[in-house]
Amino acid sequence: MLALRKSSVGFGLEFQEVPEAPPPGPGEVVVEVEAAGICGSDVHAYEWTAGYEFMTPHMPVTLGHEFAGRLVRSGTGSGWAEGARVAVIPFVACGHCTACRADDARNCTRREGIGLTRDGGFARTVRIPARCCVAVPDNVDAELAALAEPLGVGAEAVLTGEVRLGETVLVLGPGTIGQAIALMAQRAGAARVFVAGRADGPRFAVLRELGFTETVDVAEGPLADQVLALTGGRPVDVVLEATGVPGSLNEGLSVLKKGGVIVAAGIHAGALTLPLTEFVRMRHQLRATHGAVRRTWDRVMAWLAAEPEAFRPMITHRLPLERGIEGFELARQRAASKVILAP
Ligand SMILES: [Zn+2]
Ligand SMILES: [Zn+2]
Repeated sequence: MLALRKSSVGFGLEFQEVPEAPPPGPGEVVVEVEAAGICGSDVHAYEWTAGYEFMTPHMPVTLGHEFAGRLVRSGTGSGWAEGARVAVIPFVACGHCTACRADDARNCTRREGIGLTRDGGFARTVRIPARCCVAVPDNVDAELAALAEPLGVGAEAVLTGEVRLGETVLVLGPGTIGQAIALMAQRAGAARVFVAGRADGPRFAVLRELGFTETVDVAEGPLADQVLALTGGRPVDVVLEATGVPGSLNEGLSVLKKGGVIVAAGIHAGALTLPLTEFVRMRHQLRATHGAVRRTWDRVMAWLAAEPEAFRPMITHRLPLERGIEGFELARQRAASKVILAP
């Protein structure tokens, strides 16, 4: 079968002909992939920006960690019936470290990443541990189910930021994770959700389709001026970052209320310079979020089932796997929002 893989360090990806996924062992399943999204982190791996060196010992590796499909083979004790429709939590806990033994798989110190350190969903079939599967509701099709991963990341960011009813939230970054954060902040009860980007026309258009009209283009002027113009001079309650640009956190802090929480969700190639005196006097709370726990996946699936079409505008391009590189270029040039590949 055809697989889109990272096979060496440096720029680029490669199509390789690889064997179909091997038969599942005990507790494993084989999933036939129907839809797999291209993520910002896939684009980082493609471009080979700093921060992805951890992949090197695992190459060649098939990318793709936002995918959904049909379970075609079920190993003994997997607990899944063949034919089930599933989405995949793309992390595999080791089961042996101190965190795993304390039933805290999220904080596993030796976890593997499906589509990063072991083969993922940019291929027709993939073998994974059964415990990574999440059931997909009947009315949620494969491409929407593939959005569950980024939506989970967005939902987890909102939970980390403790967004409350009636609050004003600023989202930094209009890409898929920013969109997911905005959608989930709204569902958490935020009264106003502003989304900031820089000359991101196509992604602002997606945000408008999703119902977010209060966007801020920092190419047109300082973020603080534009946000404070929207609020009538009041600082915002929570800032949620999904830009991957360290300086955007400083801009976010400049409009955050005293004691307010700012959550970093982006993957940053550089360091943050934080003026600590101001940070301390404002008692700002800087938090990080990464991935999502199963409970959050369950909540996301419930939202997808409740209003599937509310999320569909996030997907702007659909391509067969063979045209995957084109999809990566569209994502890289920020011409696309979510690109879905069909193996
Ligand atoms: Zn992702
Ligand atoms: Zn572990």
